[in-house]
Amino acid sequence: MSGDTPLSPSTIAVTAGRPAHDPDAPLNVPITMASTYVAGGDLEYGRYANPTWTALEETLGALEGGRCLSFASGMAAVTTVLDLVAPGGRVVAPRHSYSGTIMQLADLEARGRVRAELVDLTDTDAVVRACEDAALVWLESPTNPALEVADIATITAAAHEAGAYVVVDNTFATPLLQTPLADGVDLVVHSATKYLAGHSDVLLGAVCTRDDELFGVLKNRRDLQGAIPGAFEAWLVLRGMRTLHVRVERAQTNAQELVGRLADHPALSEVRYPGFGAIVSVVLAQGALAADLLTQKTKLWVHATSLGGVESTLERRRRWKGEAPTIPEGLVRLSVGIEDVDDLWRDLRTALDGCVG
Ligand SMILES: *Cc1c(COP(=O)(O)O)cnc(C)c1O
Repeated sequence: MSGDTPLSPSTIAVTAGRPAHDPDAPLNVPITMASTYVAGGDLEYGRYANPTWTALEETLGALEGGRCLSFASGMAAVTTVLDLVAPGGRVVAPRHSYSGTIMQLADLEARGRVRAELVDLTDTDAVVRACEDAALVWLESPTNPALEVADIATITAAAHEAGAYVVVDNTFATPLLQTPLADGVDLVVHSATKYLAGHSDVLLGAVCTRDDELFGVLKNRRDLQGAIPGAFEAWLVLRGMRTLHVRVERAQTNAQELVGRLADHPALSEVRYPGFGAIVSVVLAQGALAADLLTQKTKLWVHATSLGGVESTLERRRRWKGEAPTIPEGLVRLSVGIEDVDDLWRDLRTALDGCVG
């Protein structure tokens, strides 16, 4: 094998972050349960370093094309990145960002910590205008659950012109469908809870960057704020990532097939799909009541929040009071899993047939 040929993401997902191929070495990195380490080395203390985190961070960093830091949850990663903004600095963010991100921005603004400006991500000119005087431009693409897609390259150029950092929450796309660092974005944030872990059994977050100075600042923040993942959680996410490419490919194929079949169902007024990934948002023509009915009528699709697991789930997003009021009351977000697509379709169609008129 030539040492110069870059490995494909599928190979990286399977092979990165493993112990050296020495006789009797375990194939998988062990779960290192340690609050402290014998003095004299680099690890020092359990809040600063853990070999199981390192294996996960090497793997995700290699997929995103940068260095990676893992955090206790996606929101711990989001919060740590927002903390880069100096007091009073302006943050530009999509009005349809993940509701936790919006609530966090509102809380920081209420305490006078930052000034937030929420923008319509689909209006690139407006986003570019908002970049002027910004300290940080937050992008989420596609957005959760509106599924709007940002013009990342154009917005990044404008933000850098203004001297602002650009962040992309890459949770929905995963590094298999989108690598924002390659487009010049400064930071990528993940809720690894979703596709990266993929089995709905763990919470974890991550930040990736190519900028060594930013990496150092964020590592220092993590050391001091202590929003670190557990070793077992890191191991579970790494275990999940070994099949990321297979899961994302299958879930995306299922989603694309379902989008085609959903297109003219009379219970729906709208089917939103950005063309890639495995999240589909449908709007029930009869509004919130019909949407609630749909979530109660499916048998295979589980009514639950969160997304990105092997199992298909659905949820009416406006049942959360933190969701943006511009999201339709009747919008149901589908997280398409890796089950048989005909089984998924039969279950969904039967439930939808009961939500017409
Ligand atoms: C779930 C989610 C988060 C928050 O991650 P947690 O792991 O739940 O803390 C952030 N961004 C997006 C897009 C999400 O879907």
